[in-house]
Amino acid sequence: MRIDVSQAQQYDKDNGTNFLQKIISDLSEQTGLSFSINKGFLEYEKDDDGNALISTDQNGDPMGSSISRDLIKKGIDHKETGKFSLVNSGGSHGMGLNFQVDVNQTESFIAGTGSALNKKTMGFGMMFTHEFLHTDIGIGKLHGREANEWGRIGSVGNIMNGIRKQMGSDYGERHSYLSVGLNGKSHIPFDLSNRQLLYQQIQGRIKRGILYPTLSPIRGKYISY
Ligand SMILES: [Zn+2]
Repeated sequence: MRIDVSQAQQYDKDNGTNFLQKIISDLSEQTGLSFSINKGFLEYEKDDDGNALISTDQNGDPMGSSISRDLIKKGIDHKETGKFSLVNSGGSHGMGLNFQVDVNQTESFIAGTGSALNKKTMGFGMMFTHEFLHTDIGIGKLHGREANEWGRIGSVGNIMNGIRKQMGSDYGERHSYLSVGLNGKSHIPFDLSNRQLLYQQIQGRIKRGILYPTLSPIRGKYISY
């Protein structure tokens, strides 16, 4: 009934880093839940009646995304125990009961987040949530067609976009699971105008074998890493 984060605790200890704390800080903001780590397991705080404690804003409304809150609660309450790890290469992924976040990949997403976007939209909490969704304590779905066709988002991506919508417009909306490589960087569109710019780039490349340098996707909401 909790998520095993002991490897991540050990990773931070060995490397003098605080990535697990960054994840928990983002997750608190994105779910409104208060988290604690008890003997290597991630738990959320409950009141005396056993209900989740949820942070509220000045108006008394719950903070964060209800979609994210419900999913993470369900994952922690699941009868099976998910196991989370931090790695520094090989990418982030999740399957079965295991999921991992690649800290270097995540830092490159954060560093490449355009100024019109909140850096947390592909930050540590959102990466944790995305990979968690792939597991059996999440929704148990891997990537399908979106892993081969540009412009598709898939079921995990759709849920992540639902969370983004609840978090606010500065989280944008991811418009492709796949990135596009241009000018030595990879680009992911987070609004329709940026998606259109990237699409024109792809069309130009297919039709003429060249790129339009004036259409570099540096407008709107995007991540280039
Ligand atoms: Zn994924």
